Amino acid sequence: DLGKYEGMVEDCCCDYETVDGLNVEVLHPLLQELVATPFFRYFKAKLWCDCPFWPDDGMCRLRDCSVCECPENEFPEPFKKPFRGGLPSDDLICQEGKPQATVDRTLDKRVFRGWIETDNPWTNDDETDNGEMMYVNLLLNPERYTGYVGPSARRIWDAIYSENCPKYSSGEICQEKKVLYKLISGLHSSISIHIAADYLLDETTSLWGQNLDLMYDRVLRYPERVRNLYFTFLFVLRAVTKAADYLEQAEYDTGNQTEDLKTLSLIKQLLYNPKLQAACPLPFDEAKMWQGQSGPELKQQIQKQFRNISALMDCVGCEKCRLWGKLQVHGLGTALKILFSFDQVQPQLQLQRNEVIALVNLLNRLSESVKLVREMGPSIERIMER
Ligand code: FAD
Repeated sequence: DLGKYEGMVEDCCCDYETVDGLNVEVLHPLLQELVATPFFRYFKAKLWCDCPFWPDDGMCRLRDCSVCECPENEFPEPFKKPFRGGLPSDDLICQEGKPQATVDRTLDKRVFRGWIETDNPWTNDDETDNGEMMYVNLLLNPERYTGYVGPSARRIWDAIYSENCPKYSSGEICQEKKVLYKLISGLHSSISIHIAADYLLDETTSLWGQNLDLMYDRVLRYPERVRNLYFTFLFVLRAVTKAADYLEQAEYDTGNQTEDLKTLSLIKQLLYNPKLQAACPLPFDEAKMWQGQSGPELKQQIQKQFRNISALMDCVGCEKCRLWGKLQVHGLGTALKILFSFDQVQPQLQLQRNEVIALVNLLNRLSESVKLVREMGPSIERIMER
């Protein structure tokens, strides 16, 4: 029933149909090319289980669960170099002369100063390079069904929902908490859709394919979960476009000039796409958040909750799920940092290379999920509801 997704996406300026059109025509093809470039296909993560909340439960030992690490000589040479130190404090630029009454939705224009190690108040990860970090080629480790089910998986989702973002009933809870819930639910929908879209249908013959029942049971039969997916997609898209100046100036150096120029060209096509700007110039309006008197306090509280969610990723008992869980929560944390931790008071955006990699890969995953829902949703629903 396509009618369920008519009208505007919540908190957004564009409708479902427009988002679908933009995604299929512009965003999805660009993102698919982008995540295959050498810059975006290597993600750095500490993948060994280091769960602060529960004892090790034996981990997932299925073959489809393990991640294959990149050999040293495979990942880009510039990624191995240590980061430069932080910026001198007088390097910060003030944005003067802006009328105070208007909300500044832009970030400082001269922004990229080289990749550095920098903190993200929204995430828990320590990004310091050390022996525990490994580089993973994401193209070789697709997010798909792994067999990670049962109490171990369930307790993570339960902890995320119940401890960190209690379900809201309308009117009861502030908009900011709803946003956190919708982001998590949207990410959960996307993960479920990827599991269903790339499922081990027959273990004996190793037949992989789409599990339409699962896609319906876990996501499509709940319109709210689909709506949250669109919301999360647009939220992350807004973060990417808000950081346009930074992302345009960033170094996509992997030692392969042809590839790196292509990466930059794709990034620019994504950031300054005329169709996107015409159809959905403000996919999420972050200026509306944290407005009330308790805004700053609430922000700190939600930041802490999101850090807990980020820490929970160390407890995901299946390596490949942990990889994609970490990457996507890291990507969401980066989006939150771009949208909510930089403003007129602190206009200097700094992102880590790994944050940018996570952000773009997350956007691609969400874009894939939105495309799958739109392409397959109506026919699956017709079959299931018969
Ligand atoms: P679950 O997906 O575990 O959901 C648990 C409960 O959450 C549901 O019963 C429902 O009440 C609620 N819920 C479900 N979806 C939503 C939603 N969108 N919004 C709001 N509430 C919702 N498995 C893989 O095979 N491959 C992976 O790559 C993978 N990655 C994972 C990453 C993380 C971070 C986690 C925690 C788990 C991952 N898993 C992965 C496991 C997978 O997500 C499921 O937990 C597992 O398949 C069992 O599914 P389930 O049917 O019990 O429901």
